[in-house]
Amino acid sequence: MIVILLGPPGAGKGTQAKRLEEKYGLVQLSTGDMLRAERNSGSALGRKVQAIMDAGQLVPDDIIIDLIADRIDRLGGKGFILDGFPRTVPQAEALDRLLRDKGQKLDRVIEMTVDDASYHDRHHRPKVDGVCDGCGSHDFVRRADDNPEAVKIRLEAYRRQTAPILPYYRKKGILRQVDGMADIDSVGRQIEAILNGQ
Ligand code: AMP
Repeated sequence: MIVILLGPPGAGKGTQAKRLEEKYGLVQLSTGDMLRAERNSGSALGRKVQAIMDAGQLVPDDIIIDLIADRIDRLGGKGFILDGFPRTVPQAEALDRLLRDKGQKLDRVIEMTVDDASYHDRHHRPKVDGVCDGCGSHDFVRRADDNPEAVKIRLEAYRRQTAPILPYYRKKGILRQVDGMADIDSVGRQIEAILNGQ
């Protein structure tokens, strides 16, 4: 099974992708995680994308498409969940070509809808490194693109560059929506119902 989770930054795609990994034995492919790993390793690619990511802008399509093509190749036909890809129409078209060449097909695109007004609250991360009552240890890592200006640009990039892929998938008849405002378990159940064909 091949599934795309779509939604604005902060909608909870990563959390739901992890649930699906466990439940269906799929592999989570997060382009954001891949790029952060490149940065942390200090690779040439990581250095190239650093400033773009910190500003909250999208990394050029050709870089992302190469990155994801390589990862999909390495899965050898195993099912996967795309989290944070595609983010532009050219990326969606490239994915189609990639899958067609491999004889694979995209099963579902799930849009997690989130109210604009609540976006900033949901996206809040600890303000001071290492100080966050009740957070898990992974929450102590503050992202460089988590300042108000970058968050605004990321949301704007979603509206202008990513939202146009919704009609692209609607036309194909594979787009479904879930209420991303519901609690994590309820969103998870909505997604499972879709994937189970209900
Ligand atoms: P994320 O963790 O998905 O929010 O991604 C973090 C950042 O990585 C984004 O703000 C972009 O700068 C970059 N990025 C991740 N995925 C993509 C993509 N599919 N296309 C372009 N840029 C991306």
